[in-house]
Amino acid sequence: MARRVTVRTGTEARLRQQEQQRLNIMGGLLALGGAVVVARLFTLQVLEAEALRHAARVRRERRRPLLARRGAILDRHGQPLAQTTFYYHLAIDPRTVRNPTETARWLAHGLGLSQEALEAAIRESQARNARYQRVATFVPQHRAEPFLQAYRAMPMRQRPALLMREVIPARELPEKRLAAQVIGLTTVEESGEHGAQLKPLCGIELQMERVLQGRNGYEEGEIAPGGVIIPETLRARQSPIDGQPVRLTLDSTIQEAVEEALDALYRQHKPVGALALVLDPHTGEILALANRPTFDPVTRKELARSTEPLRNRAITFLYEPGSTLKPITIAAALDEGIIRPSDRFGCLANFKVGRKPIRCVLHGRRHGWQTPEEVLKNSCNIASAQIGLRCGLERLYRALQRFHLLEPTGVELPAEWSGWTDPPERVNYGRALRAANLAFGQGLFVTPLALAAAYGVFANEGRWVQPHLLYGRSEVRRSTVIQPQTARSVLRGLLRAVEEGTGKRAQIPGYWIAGKTGTAQKAIPHRGYVPGKYIASFIGIVPADEPRAIVMVLADEPRNGYYGGEVAAPTFRRIAQFLLWYWRIPPSRTRPSDPVGLSKSPPLHRGLQEG
Ligand SMILES: [Zn+2]
Repeated sequence: MARRVTVRTGTEARLRQQEQQRLNIMGGLLALGGAVVVARLFTLQVLEAEALRHAARVRRERRRPLLARRGAILDRHGQPLAQTTFYYHLAIDPRTVRNPTETARWLAHGLGLSQEALEAAIRESQARNARYQRVATFVPQHRAEPFLQAYRAMPMRQRPALLMREVIPARELPEKRLAAQVIGLTTVEESGEHGAQLKPLCGIELQMERVLQGRNGYEEGEIAPGGVIIPETLRARQSPIDGQPVRLTLDSTIQEAVEEALDALYRQHKPVGALALVLDPHTGEILALANRPTFDPVTRKELARSTEPLRNRAITFLYEPGSTLKPITIAAALDEGIIRPSDRFGCLANFKVGRKPIRCVLHGRRHGWQTPEEVLKNSCNIASAQIGLRCGLERLYRALQRFHLLEPTGVELPAEWSGWTDPPERVNYGRALRAANLAFGQGLFVTPLALAAAYGVFANEGRWVQPHLLYGRSEVRRSTVIQPQTARSVLRGLLRAVEEGTGKRAQIPGYWIAGKTGTAQKAIPHRGYVPGKYIASFIGIVPADEPRAIVMVLADEPRNGYYGGEVAAPTFRRIAQFLLWYWRIPPSRTRPSDPVGLSKSPPLHRGLQEG
């Protein structure tokens, strides 16, 4: 099981700062979210008072806002994930109603409302001598327009009432809850002068506000009943400028499959949080990214109790990667010639660094002598610690930097957190133990997205590509992290981890799958580890012989099991199987499973041979 390390105050301060940043955002969200609810209640319940004010405004103002349409958010194929529609609030001037029964019948018929309720409202507002009475709210544009057109076509004297309208924009999500934390939320900000506008709260909506927003226009003149300016009286006009669409790298079909796979994990293991993502290692495109808990973006009812469903754990979650970091330390050691692929590391007896024993997950048994590839296959802590000691703290730290694990990825989302470990110059004692622990993923914190991108290096001939969400983004950072042969060597180790090691539940018949399980005891800064709480994860490469995707699955505090191989690998497998089917990738594995043959000559048709 995981060893205890003290997490220093520097880390704590950083974590606290990042958490504070998140809380600030969430606080703002709550305030704005509350405002929406209040606004609606106001609209529905306190109509009278508002109606009076509005009536006064209608008389006075001759300026009518023209609403811009907020740009749509599209998936990579142009499928809308969020788009703007307009709703109308309709109102009458009760003083113009001669026959309340007839007027109520006309409205009820045209708008599909209750005639009795309308008639009662009209009579009641007439008794008050009101000048403005809302008769319908949030009527879809396509339904309100024909009714308004028929009204405008009526001769003035035959009109059952003077009718007015207000236009309200709304954000629709044709794909419902897909990638809800990525897309984000908007709220309606109502303004009589400038017209209602959608304001972003989080996610892509917030990050891409400048592109999506657009600008409302206006026109000035005499406003006719029905809300149209009488053409002859038009004095000034500024056309609205619609917002631009934003196209994401997400693929709705993959996203849907990932959401479903994650649902199954969430139901079975009831973690406090879970995440799954699919990344193209060659382009850095994020193809799918799902989070649990989640929320219904239409009703938003899950957000009433907590803002946790808004959390995108890919970028606002720091955890100790544990075993999933071993490929990175081994890659760095191989690449710099600190160790050779043929070197052997012994897991034979008790192993101590200073006075601290290093333990292997395999209780009571020993891994024996292992090559670096076999260390990955076995996920051996003792051998990893030996490799870490050979590298030393500085070199390990530089490796984490080279793999971009100690910086934000720069993905197009607000408030991304950054990975962290104490810089070597600040570690004054216990440096050897620190190096040993780092080698198997303890004493550092990373975000899931940064780690998934680091695995992209093994699938992309040693090159790191910046993960991103904007389709066709021109400036994507790339860097060479390790040599191609090092990447292949690690990839082979990851392949064997699935074939023979801890990741067997990720296997898919007919295909070569590479990947690594992670089972890390949950660390709380300054207090060390939380007993009995784990983070289970799996990161895999699909398929290993011709990589197309990095798939990552993570469960925070799962129940009914806690091993990465048990909790996360089956979900990975489900997603990987879908991708192979969706991309029509034919099985490339002609021989049945043969671990011995595999170790002698890798039966992979591309790129996996040494050198
Ligand atoms: Zn071992």
